[in-house]
Amino acid sequence: MASFSSRRYLFLLLEVLFITFLYVSAFLPETEGLAGDNVVEVNRSQREFDYFALSLQWPGTYCRGTRHCCSKNACCRGSNSPTQFTIHGLWPDYNDGSWPSCCYRSDFNEKEISTLMDGLEKYWPSLSCGSPSSCHGGKGSFWGHEWEKHGTCASPVFHDEYSYFITTLNIYLKHNVTDVLYKAGYVASNSEKYPLGGIVTAIQNAFHITPEVVCKRDAIDEIRICFYKDFKPRDCVGSKDVTSKKSCPKYVSLPEYTPLDGEAMVLKMPTDKVAL
Ligand code: 5GP
Ligand code: 5GP
Repeated sequence: MASFSSRRYLFLLLEVLFITFLYVSAFLPETEGLAGDNVVEVNRSQREFDYFALSLQWPGTYCRGTRHCCSKNACCRGSNSPTQFTIHGLWPDYNDGSWPSCCYRSDFNEKEISTLMDGLEKYWPSLSCGSPSSCHGGKGSFWGHEWEKHGTCASPVFHDEYSYFITTLNIYLKHNVTDVLYKAGYVASNSEKYPLGGIVTAIQNAFHITPEVVCKRDAIDEIRICFYKDFKPRDCVGSKDVTSKKSCPKYVSLPEYTPLDGEAMVLKMPTDKVAL
C-alpha cells in the first residue's frame, strides 16, 4: 500500500513538472541577438521590439581598415568616397539591451528597392568588400544582410523591404548628425581630439535625446540615435552615462579619410599615417 501511494506521488510530481515545463517553454522567447553575434537561424516567435536605433558609421574610421578595393566598396570611390556619417542600419531593439534578429524568412530582393538605388548608394553604401552572411546560411549584400537580420524584426511598423529602406533614408536625412557636429565645431581631423561629452551635448541640443557612441580605440566608429515606433526621437538604452561608455575614451577623434584609389590604397593604407 505504501509503495503504491509513493508511486502515485511520483507520477503526480512528474506530471506537475512536465506541465510546468510546457507552460514555461511556451512563454520563453527564442534566441535574441547579443553583441557580436552571427545569427543564421530564423527566430519566428520573438516578441515585438521596443524602439529603433539608427546606427550611423563614420567612414573616416571604417575606411582606415580597408586592405583592398572592389567596386562595391564606397571607401574606394576616390574623391567621391563618403565624407559624412553613412547608414549602417535601422535596428529594432528591446529596452533591456538585447535585440531580435532574423525574425522571419524574407529573402532580400534588390528589385524591390531599385527606385531607391541613388539614395542607397550615396547614404547607405557598403564600406567593405566582404559579403555578409544572410539569415539562412548564404552570402549576400550589405543591404540584404541589414534587411534580413534587422528589417524583418521591425513588424508591425514595416512588413516589406521597400518601406524599411525608404523610411530609413528619410529619418537619416531628417537627422543630419554630420551637420550637427560640424556646426558645433567638431570637424573631421587627423590631429584634433574632441571631448566625448561635447559631441554628445551637440547631439542632445539638436535632437533632445542622448545618442549612443561607439569607438574603435579613440576614434568614433558609430553614432546611434534612437526613435520610438512613430519615429519621435528618444534616448538609446546604451546611452546611459555616456561619458563612461565602455568603448569610448573621454577624448575622441573623428578621423579624416583621405580618399585613395585602388593600387595607391593597397600601398598606403596599412601605414595609416598618410594624412597626419
Ligand atoms: P558589434 O559587436 O560589432 O558591436 O555588432 C555586431 C552586429 O551586432 C551589428 O552589426 C548589429 O548587426 C548587431 N548589433 C550590435 N549592437 C546592436 C544593438 O544595440 N542593437 C541591434 N539591434 N543590433 C546590434
Ligand atoms: P553586422 O555587424 O551588421 O551584423 O554585419 C555586417 C556585415 O556586413 C559584416 O559581415 C561586414 O563585413 C559586412 N559589411 C559590408 N559592408 C559593411 C559596412 O559598410 N559596414 C559594416 N559594419 N559592415 C559591413
